[in-house]
Amino acid sequence: MPCKNHPETESIARCFGCQESFCENCLVEISGQRYCGSCKVIALEDVTPVLEPQGTTPCNEANDALIYAIISIFCFGIFLGPMAISTANTAKRKIAADHSLTGTGKANAAIIIGTIALIFWILGLAARILQN
Ligand SMILES: [Zn+2]
Ligand SMILES: [Zn+2]
Repeated sequence: MPCKNHPETESIARCFGCQESFCENCLVEISGQRYCGSCKVIALEDVTPVLEPQGTTPCNEANDALIYAIISIFCFGIFLGPMAISTANTAKRKIAADHSLTGTGKANAAIIIGTIALIFWILGLAARILQN
C-alpha cells in the first residue's frame, strides 16, 4: 500500500491515530506508537504532562497571611498571629472556591507559623505576669 503523503513510496505501517498508511519518513514513534505528522501533534499533547490542575493566579490573602505570620514571630504576635490564621483561612476558602488561585501551601504555612507565634506570645505574657 502506498504512503498517503507519498503515493510513489510504499508504506511501512499505519498511523495509530488515523489508521492511514504512511512511509517511514512520515511516521514518528511516540510512547511506542507510530503517528503521522498531523496525529503527532495530538499525540504529543496527550503525552505532555498536564500542567498543575490548580490555577496560576496567586491568592493575595495567602501572601498577606504569610507576611502577617512572619511579622507575628517578631512583634505583635498576640495581634498578628490570629490575624494571620484568619486571613489564611479566608485564603483557603477562596482557593477552594476558585481553582484558578494558588497559595494553599502559603496559607497552611501561615496558619502553622501564626499558631506558634501566638502560643509563644501567650507564654511570654504569662511568664511576665507570673514574675510580677
Ligand atoms: Zn495519523
Ligand atoms: Zn510518506
